[in-house]
Amino acid sequence: MSAQGCTATPVLRERGQREVFCGLTSIVWLHRKMQDAFFLVVGSRTCAHLLQSAAGVMIFAEPRFGTAILDETDLAGLACAQDELDNVVTQLLSRRSDIRQLFLVGSCPSEVIKLDLEKAAERLSQQFAPRVRVINFSGSGIETTFTEGEDACLAAMVPTLPQSDAAQLLVAGALPDVVQDQMLGLLADMGLADVAVLPAARADDRVTVGPNTKVAMVQPFLGETLAALTRRGATHIAAPFPFGEEGSTAWLRAVARAFGVSDAVVDRVTEAPRARARRAVAQAAEVLSGKSVFFLPDSQLEIPLARFLTRECGMQAIEVGAPFIHSGLMAPDLALLEAGPVISEGQDVDLQLDRVRAARPDLTVCGLGLANPLEAEGLTTKWAIELVFTPVHFYEQAGDLAGLFSRPLRRRAILQREAAE
Ligand code: SF4
Repeated sequence: MSAQGCTATPVLRERGQREVFCGLTSIVWLHRKMQDAFFLVVGSRTCAHLLQSAAGVMIFAEPRFGTAILDETDLAGLACAQDELDNVVTQLLSRRSDIRQLFLVGSCPSEVIKLDLEKAAERLSQQFAPRVRVINFSGSGIETTFTEGEDACLAAMVPTLPQSDAAQLLVAGALPDVVQDQMLGLLADMGLADVAVLPAARADDRVTVGPNTKVAMVQPFLGETLAALTRRGATHIAAPFPFGEEGSTAWLRAVARAFGVSDAVVDRVTEAPRARARRAVAQAAEVLSGKSVFFLPDSQLEIPLARFLTRECGMQAIEVGAPFIHSGLMAPDLALLEAGPVISEGQDVDLQLDRVRAARPDLTVCGLGLANPLEAEGLTTKWAIELVFTPVHFYEQAGDLAGLFSRPLRRRAILQREAAE
């Protein structure tokens, strides 16, 4: 295999119709992660409906997201819309003393685009300081795909982080709590105990940034966040993403090296979890080995996952499509991905579906809207959104990650057997 993998592979760039959820979807996992935050979407009934159906309705708990619906009539006067927004926020914050961070989330309707949410956030921040910090970001489907919502949110938080000159590690990207605890445990065992995480669980958790901050990313879709952190002086620890045994080890090793921790320490700390991950992946790999996979652009996890599936599970990648390819974040994974697949960025959905139909891959990873039609054509699919809602990072989840891909193939094999009997 070439030492450069897909580094030099020309990228097929397409700019046409695309089929992805918008950035509002990321509120579903962000509101669980940030326990004293409230996400107020300034949007339409469609936005409210999307959030309710994606996140479910919380009956017993106080919700931590909501939608301020702007109707056509609000267009009559933008000043009125600003007043209305101020009223909604004032009512919300007077009722809910638990809220410490309020995110005003923009959306696509033209009446929302005309509202200056940045100004509104500044004005409301001053009004409710120091109890509540008000930050705005866009989850609009015109500007963002569903994981970019997290990127926009975290990037908007960066300018609010206090400055620090301390030599420190900052890990950026929302992980499920159980996975984050595993990661922090491994880092602590390597001697890196004082680690800040963005986003933090609570507004009071001290997350700082400055010229001696080294930042490691755990999600591949955080290009704007990385740029914002870099502007604050932080330096990026380039590494493959921590998916599978190989990716997790490479990520930990890169972080360790950045802080002068020897490879021998990393080997000792990771020996047992590596063996567990290898065993767990091997079970799913029995089904995956030798099968072909086609990634349509959706979650931005596509390149690291293709690296995992080809190198640890024996799959063959036909095309690896990503909504955007951030060269700085993707370089380590691209270097490990064996040359061969088409690497595509963006989407022209009809052209791409023609390529899927021509290749007839064993497994197609795609958005919800495309999965059912492709299944009806006899193709086996995996919903990309599940990869974001399921804990998949680091060693203990490596088997589950492989299982997410092997399950649809097992199901298809059972159905075919039953049909033949
Ligand atoms: S932000 Fe745009 S794409 Fe997303 S739900 Fe609202 S209207 Fe639809």
